[in-house]
Amino acid sequence: MRRRIAVVGAGPAGLAFARVLHRHGHPVTVLERDASRDARPAGGTLDLHKGLGQLALEKAGVLKEFEALSRPEGQAMRMLATDGTVLRDWRPDPGERANPEIDRGQLRDLLLGPVDVEWGRAVTQVVPRGAGEALVCFTDGRQETFDLVVGADGAWSRVRPAVSSVTPRYTGVTLVESSLDDVDTRHPDLARLVGDGSVAVHGVNRALVAQRNSGGHVKVYAQYRAELDRHPHPADGEAGARADAEAVRADLLALFDGWAAPVLELLRHGAAFVRRPLYTLPVDHTWTHVPGVTLLGDAAHLMPPLGAGANLAMLEGAELAEAIAAGPSDLDAAVRAFEEQMWSRASRWAGITTAGLERLVSPDPTQALALFDAVQP
Ligand SMILES: Cc1cc2nc3c(=O)[nH]c(=O)nc-3n(C[C@H](O)[C@H](O)[C@H](O)COP(=O)(O)OP(=O)(O)OC[C@H]3O[C@@H](n4cnc5c(N)ncnc54)[C@H](O)[C@@H]3O)c2cc1C
Repeated sequence: MRRRIAVVGAGPAGLAFARVLHRHGHPVTVLERDASRDARPAGGTLDLHKGLGQLALEKAGVLKEFEALSRPEGQAMRMLATDGTVLRDWRPDPGERANPEIDRGQLRDLLLGPVDVEWGRAVTQVVPRGAGEALVCFTDGRQETFDLVVGADGAWSRVRPAVSSVTPRYTGVTLVESSLDDVDTRHPDLARLVGDGSVAVHGVNRALVAQRNSGGHVKVYAQYRAELDRHPHPADGEAGARADAEAVRADLLALFDGWAAPVLELLRHGAAFVRRPLYTLPVDHTWTHVPGVTLLGDAAHLMPPLGAGANLAMLEGAELAEAIAAGPSDLDAAVRAFEEQMWSRASRWAGITTAGLERLVSPDPTQALALFDAVQP
């Protein structure tokens, strides 16, 4: 008998899960809050690691398409001092494909492929029913029952409370994202500064990172240590966080005052500011297994955004789907085994990225350079 399976969230975790199940001919219901695939900007670029995100794409059967779309040159990384001195200028060898970059929108479309998503279906809560069933409740008052509900609904998961009472905690670091378009034509100096990949500048308790996306688009991430109460709560959503652009710009220019003029140009020309106070779940977050419900990705192990979250989310989605498609007579045993494997790998990465954030936005900016030297091939 085919089990009724639903995944809540069509982000990297939910789509990887759905795509791999689809590849194995197993039906799955994908429930997504957004009204359509283009309801909001997809976000910046992601580097997908060989043994993580790329492995998930292989399991989904779309690795070749990824290789055609991704930007290996985007792995380039330049580090500057706050006075603009170039400290490091690392470029990948031709053929280096350890962590190529891909725009989030391109990745979403790649994973979506033939997968059917039920858009505009915001889940309010999931209630385990015992005997491996779970009830999904929607904002419009409707309810549906499934044999397995997979919560892939991100940091502020509505599925998580069905298995865990833990909530994300503020890290003490806030990130403000902004964007520049047509950078090669409109801002050639900034295009040279950013290069093919990223440029990062680290000062005392502050960092500025600019990253090239495809099509001449650049994302700028200003990060700094600050009390949380200066900022809107992320549950306000992107619209709530999208504060008055000129006020945010003035605030940032004051925070980064004294940094080299070309670096500050990134903030002067940035648009579409979005504030994201960085939250995490505890490094060792686990839960007592609940039949009929599980979590993947940020819903299970929200960690600092240092190149691991989407990679883990996708691999977990692909692995859980494969375990289910392998057709175990005991679905619950397959989910239990998957959770054990996910917890141990995720807690390792949560430890690495938590320590990384401490060093990258640190009272001692030499920590960032030391970290770069330790991880660069
Ligand atoms: C600035 C920044 C840069 C990053 N860079 C990288 C990187 O380079 N590499 C990397 O690996 N990771 C990176 N990350 C982390 C990465 O973005 C996340 O770890 C990843 O998106 C998690 O995927 P997910 O599918 O678990 O959750 P999400 O991407 O958050 O997707 C959750 C989905 O669930 C939907 N949803 C939410 N609530 C509901 C609901 N109630 N009902 C129905 N649907 C719902 C949402 O609309 C969304 O589509 C970065 C993060 C940030 C903030």
